[in-house]
Amino acid sequence: MRMRASIMSAVVVACLAGTTANAQKALNVVTSTEDLGSIVREVGGDKVTVTSLARGYQDPHFVDPKPSFILAVNRADLYVAVGRELEIGWLPPLITSSRNAKIQPGASGYLDASQNVHILEIPTGQVTRAMGDVHPLGNPHYWLEPGNGRLIARAVRDKLGELSPADKAYVAQRYDDFDKRLAAAEKRWDAAMAPYKGTKLVTYHRSWPNFMERFGLEVIGYVEPKPGIPPSPSHTIDLIDEMKRTGAKLIVVEPYFSLKTPQAVASQVPGGKVLIMAPSVGGVKEATDFIQLFEYNVGLLTSTLKQITGK
Ligand SMILES: [Zn+2]
Repeated sequence: MRMRASIMSAVVVACLAGTTANAQKALNVVTSTEDLGSIVREVGGDKVTVTSLARGYQDPHFVDPKPSFILAVNRADLYVAVGRELEIGWLPPLITSSRNAKIQPGASGYLDASQNVHILEIPTGQVTRAMGDVHPLGNPHYWLEPGNGRLIARAVRDKLGELSPADKAYVAQRYDDFDKRLAAAEKRWDAAMAPYKGTKLVTYHRSWPNFMERFGLEVIGYVEPKPGIPPSPSHTIDLIDEMKRTGAKLIVVEPYFSLKTPQAVASQVPGGKVLIMAPSVGGVKEATDFIQLFEYNVGLLTSTLKQITGK
């Protein structure tokens, strides 16, 4: 009996050791958003375990840090941030209090995904508080463009290869596969959006400049008078006039904003319509990964524009 027990415990110890060895093989990656999480999964496959902090239906500028975030960040081998000050209100204290030297900005386990992507709206003059929540490093919603997704994936591939050299070929192959699937999807999206080039529309927040530029749509105004500033009556009146003048009918709203002002504006514009688009993976249940995010938004947008324009 005694013998058996000791054999049993030896087996248990061996199993636990095996589990630990396997767990150590997969890099523990934490990302700020589900979009970055999806891209890390695409490239990292089973060599990574991924935790994303902000949910796709939350405003990524304002995230309530949960106790579980500290634990996740404390155990991370790699942190992938959106950057361009998107997370300035919540991430720096989390990283600082994580007691994890590996993922501090500047360390090899910290990746700012915005470093080599196409960034719009970089202010040329001095940025003041009067401008609202304008980001001095440019618009941080850059992931809403498939080409930037590809560039983020490339940076993730290089970083994973650097952190686990043994997996370099594996992640390179997975990146190539993602790149091919994304390119094939882009062809479809471009074809679907082509009839609507030049369409004028309004968005609630400045979340969509990269998306609209990519597909040739023109944003003529915003429900927010300034980024991060709630709608005001005088701005709303100006916006209604501007939509009537330019013929814009569509108001795109992120799921975390109130529909009250957008609906009031739409009701004053002939043919006006409010459309809730998903700004992130997880923003709606259909947007299950980075490619599906665009699949969903392009499908929704084209069917709505078809109704509005008759094209
Ligand atoms: Zn923003």
